[in-house]
Amino acid sequence: MRRKLIAGNWKMYKTANEAVALAREIWAQAKEAGPVDVLLAPPFTSLHAVEDVIRGSAILLAGQNMHHEPQGAFTGEISAAMLKAAGCTHVILGHSERRQFFGETDEGVGRKAVAAHAADLTPIVCVGETLAERDGGQTEAVVERQTKAALAGLSVEQVAETVVAYEPVWAIGTGRTATAAQAQEVHAFLRKLIGKTHAGAESTVRILYGGSVKAENAAELMSCADVDGALVGGASLVADSFLKIVKGATI
Ligand code: PEP
Repeated sequence: MRRKLIAGNWKMYKTANEAVALAREIWAQAKEAGPVDVLLAPPFTSLHAVEDVIRGSAILLAGQNMHHEPQGAFTGEISAAMLKAAGCTHVILGHSERRQFFGETDEGVGRKAVAAHAADLTPIVCVGETLAERDGGQTEAVVERQTKAALAGLSVEQVAETVVAYEPVWAIGTGRTATAAQAQEVHAFLRKLIGKTHAGAESTVRILYGGSVKAENAAELMSCADVDGALVGGASLVADSFLKIVKGATI
């Protein structure tokens, strides 16, 4: 039985003070371990402050990105060890905004996934097709290529621990959500694919859905057999809507 995971990706929103205020509101309702894992991914500058708020609670912390090298002359970058030292257990890798605006490649995401595991961080690897790719019947080919590259350097045991997030690009921040049937179809495809590339990991690996998840659609999406939680952007910036999604996943 896979535990559901609801992850809030705060993107480039919230100063440290604002992040602390939001984290406190979430902490008040979600500090105890429940049936669903809850994770927050604030900007780097707020990691320490948010960690102070959630320390000792069941809430998990993630970075939104990292460099694949352990250290070096890479101005503006952050290493896996730095995230770990800031209290992170997870790191989001290959988000479509990073692929689209910062030139991240499939192979680069694979290198980062290896480095994350080496530092004892669990990667949340994002994959997903654009609208043109979906309309062109390319969805499975695109997510297969991205997933294979992201997991290529990992052992079966590491993949079993990894989180994959299926985030159709056309549904991110657009208010347009994949239907539960569309999500389930791709999630089942990904689980089967992982069963071929890393046999044995497919029953354990958690596959999240992301793309305009809100309180109103969370429960239906979360009820799909192969949907193990959600990566939430916009709706994670307000405690009430994020907590309603957590509740919606508690089924
Ligand atoms: C995301 O950033 O991963 C995301 C899914 O954003 P939103 O929920 O706003 O679509």
